[in-house]
Amino acid sequence: MNSKLLRKLPKVDELLMDERITEAAQGLLREQAVDAVRAAVEAVRREVLKAQEPLEEAFVSYEAIVEKAVAAVRYSHIKSLRRVINGTGVVLHTNLGRAKLSPAAMKAVAEVADKYSTLEYDPVKGGRGSRHVHVEKIIERITGAEAAMVVNNNAAATTICLAALGRGREIIISRGELVEIGGSFRVPEIMEESGAHLVEVGTTNKTRAADYRAGIGENTGAVMKVHTSNYKIIGFTEEVPLKELAELGHEAGLPVIYDMGSGLMISLRDYGIEEPTVREAMADGADVVLFSGDKLLGGPQGGVIIGKKKYIDMMKAHPLARILRVDKMTLAAMEATFREYYDDDNAREKIPVLAMLTRSNAELKKEAEKLLATIRQLAPEIGAGVCCTEDVVGGGSAPAAVLDGFGVAVECAGLSAKELEKKLREGELPVISRINHDQVLLDVRTLTADEYELIAARLREIDEELQA
Ligand SMILES: *Cc1c(COP(=O)(O)O)cnc(C)c1O
Repeated sequence: MNSKLLRKLPKVDELLMDERITEAAQGLLREQAVDAVRAAVEAVRREVLKAQEPLEEAFVSYEAIVEKAVAAVRYSHIKSLRRVINGTGVVLHTNLGRAKLSPAAMKAVAEVADKYSTLEYDPVKGGRGSRHVHVEKIIERITGAEAAMVVNNNAAATTICLAALGRGREIIISRGELVEIGGSFRVPEIMEESGAHLVEVGTTNKTRAADYRAGIGENTGAVMKVHTSNYKIIGFTEEVPLKELAELGHEAGLPVIYDMGSGLMISLRDYGIEEPTVREAMADGADVVLFSGDKLLGGPQGGVIIGKKKYIDMMKAHPLARILRVDKMTLAAMEATFREYYDDDNAREKIPVLAMLTRSNAELKKEAEKLLATIRQLAPEIGAGVCCTEDVVGGGSAPAAVLDGFGVAVECAGLSAKELEKKLREGELPVISRINHDQVLLDVRTLTADEYELIAARLREIDEELQA
């Protein structure tokens, strides 16, 4: 009914010559600006066609479209994958990129990205080298394992491990460990995908050694334990500890695989985080241990596989190894991350994940006061006050651990908590907060001091937009 209006829509070429649009397009390639303008015109065209009521001619006026096109052109300056400010207090936030890299890891990534490298070159021999040596030796040294391998992520590590050790054979696993671990990674599906057959033993809440024994048969390839790192069954439960399971597996002559999820290298028990360390898992007798690179290890996305050389060699020889191999930037970041672990104190200081999880209460309180002072100074109209928080590790790690933290609760006259939370995350540099007791909360555990001013500036902007 409004199709007559379509003829009135300004042409893209005409719009592109408008001064307001050329100005907004400064710094963009021409095709980017064309795309943005075209998309803005298209959006109006669709609205016109969809409208059930007659529309005013002003709807398609030149001025109305220019306004929309300028907004679209401005928006196309912003990258889709970009920085955010994490004010949630969740250190391993899966949606926000999990682990932040250490300065050394970042530098290593930049160096191999920007320059040629020894990726598959041995400068001593003067010829072809292996891309795997860069991380394997150091992982063996730091974990004490006989052999090591790195693939794309822990899901890939599980897949190649089961494909190499369990294809066409049975893998014994407890029903209580057939879990889904974020992003639709389902342990049973991955297992089936690898060509291994799952033999579920026990029940959801209780699995005993006798259940495993009864499950083992002629065609059993391995016994597997999955650390149910993202949830906890409490109450009437029983599971077989890794150590006992390893003994049981070895008696039957079977390899024992342990998927531990978070690769915690140094104990954080003193900080309220009850997760087993990689060395403990090895000491308990697991033959193969799998973990993520970007959870508690604090490195890049990756799946680290360590254990007996015999089994790791089987995985390296598997065709999936080529498919799941990591790129040079991952290798660079992984090597640099493991190098920080020669010394525990050094790792706690240099690896951001560990530094954030071990920040003292006194320090967090002081930081919250600094953030508050910055907000009061730069955005005096914003209501703000320091408050206590309860933080979680995130990323499916240590689900039961609650860390005491500090934050700043903020409010803006005329906006509900939900509206303020939305405005904070919709800026060019999204500030991600959380809502607690109907208040917007900025938790300082995951913030750095240089972000305080950016947060305050955004709050001020929001307040000014409201006044205008
Ligand atoms: C997180 C997790 C995975 C998946 O790891 P990705 O590196 O994200 O692929 C697998 N198993 C366990 C036990 C986990 O906690």
